[in-house]
Amino acid sequence: MSYVLGLKCKECSHRVPVSPVHVCEQCFGPYEVEYDYAAMKGKVTRASIEKGPKSLWRYKDLLPVEKPVTGFHSGFTPLRKADRLAKELGCSNLWIKDDSCNYPTYSYKERVVSVAISKAVEFGFDTVGCASTGNLANSTAAHAAQAGIKCYVMIPHDLEQGKVLGSLIFGPTMVRIKGNYDDVNRLCTEIADKYGWAIVNVNLRPYYTEGAKTYGFEIAEQFGWKLPQHTVVPTAGGTILPKIYKAYQEFITLGLVEDNKPKIYSAQAAGCNPVVTALHKGSDIIEPQKPNTIAKSIAIGNPADGYYAANVVRDSGGWGESATDREIVDAIKLLAKTEGIWTEPAGGTTLAATIKLIQQGRIPRDESIVVSITGNGLKTLEVVADELPYPVVIEPKIGEFDQFIGSLNAPNNKPTTPDRQLVGV
Ligand SMILES: *Cc1c(COP(=O)(O)O)cnc(C)c1O
Ligand SMILES: [Zn+2]
Repeated sequence: MSYVLGLKCKECSHRVPVSPVHVCEQCFGPYEVEYDYAAMKGKVTRASIEKGPKSLWRYKDLLPVEKPVTGFHSGFTPLRKADRLAKELGCSNLWIKDDSCNYPTYSYKERVVSVAISKAVEFGFDTVGCASTGNLANSTAAHAAQAGIKCYVMIPHDLEQGKVLGSLIFGPTMVRIKGNYDDVNRLCTEIADKYGWAIVNVNLRPYYTEGAKTYGFEIAEQFGWKLPQHTVVPTAGGTILPKIYKAYQEFITLGLVEDNKPKIYSAQAAGCNPVVTALHKGSDIIEPQKPNTIAKSIAIGNPADGYYAANVVRDSGGWGESATDREIVDAIKLLAKTEGIWTEPAGGTTLAATIKLIQQGRIPRDESIVVSITGNGLKTLEVVADELPYPVVIEPKIGEFDQFIGSLNAPNNKPTTPDRQLVGV
């Protein structure tokens, strides 16, 4: 049983049947999936959801897919209370929604890709692709392998090695484009038209973006069928932020959670912050930027859904903050030391922005806060390689070990050597 009514333009409300289109034929606005919420009442319940699989497909009634073909082990990642980090930040009710352990490629992108590739197969495509800043390419390549279909991934030429190898291992055809993400995306729009492939974040975009709702559904369910008062979300193309809000609103509509007027906040890197800039200026216009930041996975200077991300932040009563590369790395280290979670720069950005929002008093210290950790630090070794003290090398003798331990207590003694060859950095 599907509750999908069709696609509806977000701007002019023009409706078309479910098909692989993403731009309104009347006004060029984006299409979004429309559901019959009235028909869901009494059928889509807390109990019906809790009976579902421990994956993002437990929310299948609220997704535009009839028959999932991948993502059976994706989603349903932990929502963890972060008391040690909370103590550092001087707040009392802090939570981490941790997609750094999402399966199989360790980012939130499993959610959007599981839905998009399942839909692509339903539509009869035998080839998928994407325009990516890295994580989407990893996820598209892995899920295409799981679904047994052909895959082409297009990325900017200068991505981290972990992101490049993290796609290549799954056997897609990868093309590195001389340009930034916005150049890659423009090319992919032409490719989708000319080659007739399912580019997950271009012509499959209405289905792709719906997958991001599962991040919000999980927060609400795992928080005990309640909504946190404050949710801080990284913003790249602007997919996940509005979709977390949509997830919250759908649960409110269905009577599954109470409406506590949840506030949503956007986090961006200072070197690419078009949405935060618009919020600070009080402007409706998202002015494109040329990205320059270590947070490459969220370095999108001309975000497709930036306008909607800014609107959701404003409508919900939230705010936006950006973080410098230095602040991003410090936040990565802080999260790792206090909570044992290693995130990539996108997560560092979100935590660094949260810290600022708390310090500014925009987020009250005693209210419930969820920090959205969306990616894994093992893919971006580069950003911390020069930041961590490298361990000493000693002979396998207890005397040398004693001497080393003794040296730790000596004043001003750093127990490190500059020997980096051992770890190949
Ligand atoms: C893609 C991505 C995001 C957010 O991207 P949106 O396009 O705004 O949804 C956040 N974090 C990571 C790690 C990502 O890969
Ligand atoms: Zn329209």
